[in-house]
Amino acid sequence: MSAKDQKSPNPGRKRPRNDVGNKVIVVLGGQWGDEGKGKVVDLLATESDIVCRCQGGNNAGHTVVVDGKEYDFHLLPSGIINSKATSFIGNGVVIHLPGLFEEGDKNEKKGLKDWEKRLVISDRAHIVFDFHQAVDGLQEVQRKAQEGKNIGTTKKGIGPTYSSKASRTGLRICDLLADFKEFSARFKLLAQQYQSMFPTLEVDIDGQLKKLQEYAERIRPMVRDGVYFMYEALHGVPKKILVEGANAALLDIDFGTYPFVTSSNCTVGGVCTGLGIPPQNVGDVYGVVKAYTTRVGIGAFPTEQLNDMGELLQTRGHEVGVTTGRKRRCGWLDLVILRYAHMINGFTALALTKLDILDVMDEIKVGVAYKINGKRIPYFPANMEILQKVEVEYEKLAGWKSDTSPCRKWDDLPPKAQNYIRFVENQVGVPIKWVGVGKSRECMIQLF
Ligand code: GDP
Repeated sequence: MSAKDQKSPNPGRKRPRNDVGNKVIVVLGGQWGDEGKGKVVDLLATESDIVCRCQGGNNAGHTVVVDGKEYDFHLLPSGIINSKATSFIGNGVVIHLPGLFEEGDKNEKKGLKDWEKRLVISDRAHIVFDFHQAVDGLQEVQRKAQEGKNIGTTKKGIGPTYSSKASRTGLRICDLLADFKEFSARFKLLAQQYQSMFPTLEVDIDGQLKKLQEYAERIRPMVRDGVYFMYEALHGVPKKILVEGANAALLDIDFGTYPFVTSSNCTVGGVCTGLGIPPQNVGDVYGVVKAYTTRVGIGAFPTEQLNDMGELLQTRGHEVGVTTGRKRRCGWLDLVILRYAHMINGFTALALTKLDILDVMDEIKVGVAYKINGKRIPYFPANMEILQKVEVEYEKLAGWKSDTSPCRKWDDLPPKAQNYIRFVENQVGVPIKWVGVGKSRECMIQLF
């Protein structure tokens, strides 16, 4: 019997059409953060209708330079610069309300207009309270006293807020905007729980609640059901939707260099859980990687250069944290890390930023493999002590010793710089779509 002759079990029934809808474009950090995601996002955001944040809080920091003005974004999607786009803060993000408005107001003074009108906030996002920030600081002090080392958090309360979320005592934007009496009761309970854990923690409950009530009114017009907002965005008229990852693969709570990580998923899975969208709506995933490696705070860093070369990268690259002002540790590009990030994220293409920082080097080294007891390992070790001990195998490439910052297309680049780019591309197995040669918007070479 042919398939055609088979009787339908349900004659006359029309199957619903599974309309996948629009796909989101994702930008993720491929190393330990500060790769220059802000600039890549800004580039893509100029033609986006919606720009989303799906995880993290105001612990991240993006710098975007437009017309010589430098904007700093921590919680706001950096696509907020695009006056034609809507910015969306998804449920996976944790929001410190005073921080949000401070950031908006600060950027407003630099020329950012009407940002409140272009911002949509998911009602399922968790709230970072001032006491979460205080606890973050106290926990760091405790860790330092007990183990002699801290995680190096930004003390923005991100970790404690995700802890409250996981222990189901957290409070969300929807709670703040619903019954304030109920919200106040739960707020008190949560504050008291923290006070019993940290006896020195002082919380001015009434003062805090008063301020929160004011913030509630200020954000009310921006708050929407986040899942439905994204559903409509994906299934309405064709739209360009961009998701801006904060932090980076090696800071991911599951896949990063635990415990020196952030408290959210900054790899591709966080896009679905942090926005409430199906995996089938995830389209291109772009990884942003710096032409060398940096890391903030402590933890294993196999290609770190604790020498003049590391200092040169630090000073030439202005490697200082946007949020913390801390000097970043610097080292050569580590391809093991990039391959690992690609295993998790499945990058469509990469943006290689800050190539210009390497302009003065005679010779450039690239970490191509890790060895344990003289044997190459094909994976990235989970355990920190093992990662501390790996031996890095390097390849040496010739430096180009010329200024790449005026280059605007592939052919303008010196052949040795082209060689460096091709080498990275082939080793990671992902095409490089953009190359960054300077801070500003124009300093980005698009390769295809
Ligand atoms: P993000 O958190 O990944 O967005 O990274 P940051 O914004 O913290 O750090 C990137 C820094 O490098 C910013 O100051 C950028 O302006 C700058 N930057 C980005 N791309 C390039 C580049 O290609 N060359 C140079 N020289 N600076 C760049």
